[in-house]
This record gives sequence, C-alpha cells and structure tokens, in this order.
Amino acid sequence: MNKNIVIVGAGITGLSAGLQLLRGGLAVTLIDRVDIGSEKQTSYGNAGLLAASSIIPLSSPGLVKNLPFYLFSKKSPLFLKYSYLPKLLPWLIPFLKNSQKHNFTNIIKNLHQLTYDTVEQHIALTKNTKASKFINKGKISMIFRDQSEILKSKSDFEIRKKYGFNFKNLSDYEFSSEYNFLSNNYNSAVEFYDHGWISSPQKYLEAIKKEFISLGGMFKKAEVTSISNNEVILKDNNIISADKILICSGVWSKKLLKNIKHKVNIEAERGFHIVLKKVSFLPPNPLMIIDKKIAITPMEDTLRFAGIVDFSGIDAPADKSRYDYIRSLIKNIMPSLSWKEEDLWMGQRPSTSDSLPVLGKSKSLENVYFAFGGQHVGLTIGPKLGKLVSDLILNKKTNFNLDPYLQSRFNN
Ligand SMILES: Cc1cc2nc3c(=O)[nH]c(=O)nc-3n(C[C@H](O)[C@H](O)[C@H](O)COP(=O)(O)OP(=O)(O)OC[C@H]3O[C@@H](n4cnc5c(N)ncnc54)[C@H](O)[C@@H]3O)c2cc1C
Repeated sequence: MNKNIVIVGAGITGLSAGLQLLRGGLAVTLIDRVDIGSEKQTSYGNAGLLAASSIIPLSSPGLVKNLPFYLFSKKSPLFLKYSYLPKLLPWLIPFLKNSQKHNFTNIIKNLHQLTYDTVEQHIALTKNTKASKFINKGKISMIFRDQSEILKSKSDFEIRKKYGFNFKNLSDYEFSSEYNFLSNNYNSAVEFYDHGWISSPQKYLEAIKKEFISLGGMFKKAEVTSISNNEVILKDNNIISADKILICSGVWSKKLLKNIKHKVNIEAERGFHIVLKKVSFLPPNPLMIIDKKIAITPMEDTLRFAGIVDFSGIDAPADKSRYDYIRSLIKNIMPSLSWKEEDLWMGQRPSTSDSLPVLGKSKSLENVYFAFGGQHVGLTIGPKLGKLVSDLILNKKTNFNLDPYLQSRFNN
C-alpha cells in the first residue's frame, strides 16, 4: 500500500508539497481548519509577487541605524504595538543581530537558492492544470523618489547583480514616458526583468486544490491540536494515523512544534492589503514603492496595495489606522486614481529571526517533517519548499543542501 502522508496546513506551501507528493505516488491528506482560498490564509492576501530578486532580508546592515525612524516616525511603514515589545524582544534581538555583515551575506546566499527560479517552479507545479493561467511572466518595477535614493541602495543592487539578476535603472525620459501615472513624488525606477506575479492568489490556491483532489488527494477541514511521530490529533479528539507528517502551518507552526518540544523563533509579521475595485487605471505590471514598502499589483480587473510590517502579536485584531495609512499612500503615489469599492485584509507573514524558512526533517521524530516560514517571500518560494520537502520524503537524491534551513538550528 502507498505510504500515507498527512500535511497540516494547506496554504501555498502545504498545497505545493501535497500535489508533488501525490505526483510522486504517495497517498496524501491535507488538513486545514479553514477552506483552501479562505481569507484567513496568509497565502490569500499577499501582493502576488514572484519576487526572484527579493533576497535582501529586512534585517540588513542599515537597519539598526534607522530603527528609531521605523519605530517612532508616523511616516514609517513599520508599526509596533508598544505593549507587545517585551514579548517581541526574544525574536527582535536575534533578528537585529542577523543584520551583521557575515550573517546577512549567508542569509542572502540561502534565500537566493530558494527564490531565483520561482517562475519556473510555479510553472512546473501547475503544468497542465487550470492554475497555470494565473501565472504572469514579466517585469517588476522598483519605484524610487529619485536617483539619490537609488544610490543609497547601491550595495543591494551590487548584490543582485552579483547573483545574476537582469535589471535596468531607467533614464529620466524612459521613466517619464512609462510612469506618468505616478505623482511627482516618484521620479526614478529600476525594472527587474524575468520576474512574475499571480493574478489572483485566491483562485490560484483553489485551482491547485482542484488538481490535488482530481488526482486522488484528500482534504479534511479540521483543527489540529497536536501531533506525535505517527499521529495527528484533532480538536474533536479524533486521531488520524500517518506514515509521515508534514507541518506547513505558517506562523501557527510554532504552537505545534512546542507540543513536540521543538524550538523555533518565529513571529507574526502582520501585513495588510486594500484591493481597489472598479478602478480608473491599471498599471501593466507590479510596482514596489521602495520608501513605503508597499507593492501595487494588477490582479485581474482590480488593483491590490499590499504591505506594511506590524508587530502586534499573532491574535490582536486589525488596527484600522493601518488601512488609513495605506489609503494615504494611494493618494500620495497615484493621486488621479479613482475606484468604487474596496476589500480590506490583514495577514500574518511567518517570519523567523534569521529570515530563512524551516525546511527538512525533525532530528528526533523519524516521521515528522517541516516546511514553513516563508516570511515576505512565502508565495515566491512555496512550490520550491514543497518540491524540496517532497523529494526528501520520497527519498529522492538531490544536490540541495538543507542544513541552513533545518529546525535544529534553533535548538541551542
Ligand atoms: C501583506 C502581505 C504581502 C505579501 N506579499 C508577498 C508577495 O508578494 N510575494 C511573496 O512571495 N510572499 C508575500 N507575502 C508572504 C506570503 O503570503 C506568505 O509567506 C505565505 O503565504 C505563507 O504561506 P504558508 O502556506 O506557509 O502559510 P499560510 O498561507 O498562512 O497557510 C498556513 C495554513 O495552516 C493552517 N493551520 C495553521 N495551524 C493549524 C492547525 N493547528 N490546524 C489546522 N490548520 C492549521 C492555517 O489555517 C493556514 O491555512 C506577503 C504577506 C503579506 C502579509
């Protein structure tokens, strides 16, 4: 009989792993407490970018110097609930330490391994399925206030060049003919070619689920309270036996790992979106407004503004002021844009203190595997995390070194 694999969590990571394990000939059950494509999933509301070149972690050498601005300025895209700070410190301190040059350089190398072929990974995952139509190949434009701002990021561009990304700093003429829909607060752009985006993350997830089910995969809607080496225990006290268990539960994985005495330093880096409907204008490709850390993505006939970093704890309700902030940005960036309807959303980026995901096998539980922690690039790397962990479960030989991503790095 085929090995029976149970995956806890059916966002982009769990779905990608599930489909690839099924294609590898195993019997797979995906368990999630919400429906696939639900707005409670982080994979539902992201900016949709397949951000191959997003290899510079937030914790970079300039961060400590700029921290007072990020924490205290009303113009900052970073929000912190001050009463949450004591709880955040055990994550924040190592996070900041990782901005030191040596760690920073290693993180970039290990992120690049996961991001660089994102478009090909998404295409391979969805080949001959209805999900493939949501993948758009094209450029992503980084938008800056002016050339002096680009100069400040010179070292980041040098790193991206070293890693072989194909990009161009536009001349004034090129900028003004292509980006005349932006306010004159923004005057420069660097375009990154050979990137991509998903035109509806929700429909993309639903279409991958359809393929998974059509190939014989099982989906069970239930909350998992704990696991052991061979059992998954549900909130209603039912127990599901499994030959192998894979945890893909995003930021909520921490709770499940705690029950099996596995440490992980992960935090909910909350982000928000406003989707504008019936808009007067759609840019042809996604934009990243660098000083505001906001992405603007055309998605079918809507425009999604997504971003912000908010540390308020995993369970705190959404603070309305975050949406007001995004609304003020829309006016500031595209003043002539008009729209008739809005959707508001908040989600939880699963962000480890070293900006790398947790991927691989448990050191002490023979049948337990992990794939979570995609932070700002979880959609980008979801199919690759799924592929690497399914190759591991299927005992396929690869040259990929999983050491930097193992959960055991948090055990000291
Ligand atoms: C505003 C914003 C913009 C972003 N933009 C981008 C972007 O442009 N590009 C990019 O690559 N990434 C982006 N991201 C990050 C990306 O969305 C996430 O990293 C990614 O979706 C994580 O996927 P996941 O499958 O690991 O987690 P999730 O999608 O959160 O899925 C985890 C699932 O586990 C389930 N679960 C958890 N615990 C249990 C339990 N005990 N029992 C049962 N089910 C459980 C949850 O219900 C959930 O469905 C963005 C994030 C935000 C917030």
